[in-house]
Amino acid sequence: MKKLLLTIIIGMSSYLYANINAVVSILPQQTFLQKIGGDKVNISLMVKPGNSPHSYEPKPSQMKDINNADIYFSIGVEFEHSWLKKFQNQNKSMLIKDMGKNITKIEIKEHSHHDEHHEEKKHDEHDDEESKDPHIWVSPQNVKIIANNIFQELSKIDKKNTAYYKKNLQQFLQEINQTDKKIKHLLKNTPKQSKFMVFHPSWGYFAKEYNLEQFAIESGGKNPKPKQIVYLIEEAKEEKVKAIFTAPEFSTKTAKQIAKEVGIPVIKISSLSADWSQNLIRLAKTISSPNKE
Ligand code: ZN
Repeated sequence: MKKLLLTIIIGMSSYLYANINAVVSILPQQTFLQKIGGDKVNISLMVKPGNSPHSYEPKPSQMKDINNADIYFSIGVEFEHSWLKKFQNQNKSMLIKDMGKNITKIEIKEHSHHDEHHEEKKHDEHDDEESKDPHIWVSPQNVKIIANNIFQELSKIDKKNTAYYKKNLQQFLQEINQTDKKIKHLLKNTPKQSKFMVFHPSWGYFAKEYNLEQFAIESGGKNPKPKQIVYLIEEAKEEKVKAIFTAPEFSTKTAKQIAKEVGIPVIKISSLSADWSQNLIRLAKTISSPNKE
């Protein structure tokens, strides 16, 4: 109780003395914004842990946070496509800025089954932007761009604290470099283009950056059909996949079924973890030696 009260007081005081009220879509963004904004920014998070940013519906209380916000940092996750306009209508003076500005987005790689009846994902139903992989934050190089974008926006809104934000940016960039070094070290004996199997394809940028290949169970946001599962099992064996990575936002039933058939472990890891750096390091560790988990 005492702790709760203290949290409330601290929470209130940071709300009162923060220079900037910001809203972000997902947890890693909150981490990045905290790194640069420190105690000058009061952050409200849209997609709470355990929810998927592909299908999120904001709560009424969160619409109130929008009313008080100076800035909304978007990142290109799916629910933003339908909600950003509503947020802007709700608070016309709120800035909406893309944390992922200047990041080159890649296509979501749909694995090709040997199954000739496998339906191709129809890209023509979406505009270009929406068919691209939105999970940009799992790459250290991308996060450097994100950090710079945050710095730019915060110092525009709150010029007098530019030096403070700059110092935080430099510190965070160092931390990102350290993270990258650790990942490279962990993966140094992993052959290039090694495949790792995932349920939801959220690790594409990580895979690209470290010369790995992500191999997803889900296809076009859908669970595979029983026949496709048979092919996935065959492919997993053929590709000598060592583990299946699943996230708490999704059902693990299919992953467990495939893992059992192939005789490999299921490892839970979310791309939406708050501890961004440790999370990527853990992924690298488990890709290089999944049985040590
Ligand atoms: Zn996702």
